[in-house]
Amino acid sequence: MSDIGIARVVIVGAGFGGLQAARRLSHSQVRITLIDRKNHHTFQPLLYQVATAGISPGEIAAPIRWILRGRKNIEILLGEVQNFDLERKLVKLPDVDVPYDYLIVAAGASHAYFGHDEWEPFAPGLKTIEDALEIRRRVLLAFELAERQAASGEGQVQLNFVIVGGGPTGVELAGTLAEISRQVLANEFVSIDPKSTRIILLEGGPRVLPTYPEDLSGSAEEQLRHLGVEVHTSTMVTGVEAAAVRMGETRLPAAVILWAAGVAASPLGKKLGAPVDRAGRVLVNPDLSLPGHREVFVIGDLASLKDKKGKMLPGVAPVAMQEGVAAASNIERDLHGEPRHDFDYFDKGNLATIGRAAAVAEFGKIHISGFLAWLSWLFVHIFFLIGFRNRIIVLIQWAWSYFTYERGARLITGDQRLPSWEALQQQEQSSHDRVSA
Ligand SMILES: Cc1cc2nc3c(=O)[nH]c(=O)nc-3n(C[C@H](O)[C@H](O)[C@H](O)COP(=O)(O)OP(=O)(O)OC[C@H]3O[C@@H](n4cnc5c(N)ncnc54)[C@H](O)[C@@H]3O)c2cc1C
Repeated sequence: MSDIGIARVVIVGAGFGGLQAARRLSHSQVRITLIDRKNHHTFQPLLYQVATAGISPGEIAAPIRWILRGRKNIEILLGEVQNFDLERKLVKLPDVDVPYDYLIVAAGASHAYFGHDEWEPFAPGLKTIEDALEIRRRVLLAFELAERQAASGEGQVQLNFVIVGGGPTGVELAGTLAEISRQVLANEFVSIDPKSTRIILLEGGPRVLPTYPEDLSGSAEEQLRHLGVEVHTSTMVTGVEAAAVRMGETRLPAAVILWAAGVAASPLGKKLGAPVDRAGRVLVNPDLSLPGHREVFVIGDLASLKDKKGKMLPGVAPVAMQEGVAAASNIERDLHGEPRHDFDYFDKGNLATIGRAAAVAEFGKIHISGFLAWLSWLFVHIFFLIGFRNRIIVLIQWAWSYFTYERGARLITGDQRLPSWEALQQQEQSSHDRVSA
């Protein structure tokens, strides 16, 4: 305890789990320090909309200080946590050590390239606002470069957009890119036909959305094909290079490659010194505490825990939010001298969006697909979006783009070079030379 007898709780990460823990504890007699390397909380479920130019970044991200304004017992620090000293109860930032009585680590996860980090520059993943803007830049630039090349009389290059990974993120990216090429941009170019863009979704397993029931996976695949996506399941990617994806002997040229295949927990997990699973998630006790350290909790995407039926809890926002509340409640119970409770996940259902009026939803035994599922997805996600103003703006924008097919955030900012473009042109040239020889 600190000098004045008030427990000091340090929370690392202001994502879904950390924010929820902070909110809950803000009503308790504790002093809270919330540390994040960003000054904003990102609503990751809508990142694909930023990546595909549907909405602007400010509509799905909000300053952490603004979200927690008026809560006098919360101090917010901007900084990247490097390590922990569990014996001395310190969180280590580059220039300062922050002491704690209780620690909640909620640093989340990022994408993983199955040990091939060299693929990352060619195939960005989607986790942060910066990632979303880079994907948006590449997608929009590919159309512009293709138009410029065709306009200069060099012929139309075949635009292939390849998405690796058929989980929820891969599926929503593929569906939305198909809509962009077939509807949004269809009449805006003169020398190229955006509708001829191939959107190719590669999934290593036998079906897309592998964590969903089989009937919903089948329906998702059907809805994707209906939108114009080429779906290839049981297709393992063995290499990624500047303008191509390799699957064994097959080489698939691609102007844009997006990575939605693997997840790795924050490296902070391993620094806690407890056992981790294959994805680097910390194997926590049923009360969410770290083995051997009752005063440390690990929650959200960084924690590995099974439910009462022995099924691994998924890396989704509701798990992180409920764990945030549960860890905070266990700290409160300690302070009141009461026994802790084990975490018990209340699963309200799962929703995955595919595109305009296309989605799948699972509410226990009830499985729905198509427009109704999409409507449920829309309202659930807008309801949980931080801030009243953002909810209204996003809803209006969505309604507008639903009826008009417009996507209002189509800005290309930053570098005007596409990493794949030169390689793609060389490939075209050499295949052209072979044909003419
Ligand atoms: C593209 C995408 C779409 C998704 N769609 C859905 C969906 O539709 N529905 C759903 O339920 N879930 C979805 N998820 C999953 C969901 O977003 C995660 O399960 C959830 O964010 C996990 O919450 P968390 O608190 O554990 O981590 P996060 O929300 O990721 O928060 C981690 C926080 O820790 C901070 N941090 C990390 N390392 C450090 C460090 N060293 N120092 C300081 N701060 C640090 C980060 O900046 C971040 O703010 C999606 C995820 C992605 C990437």
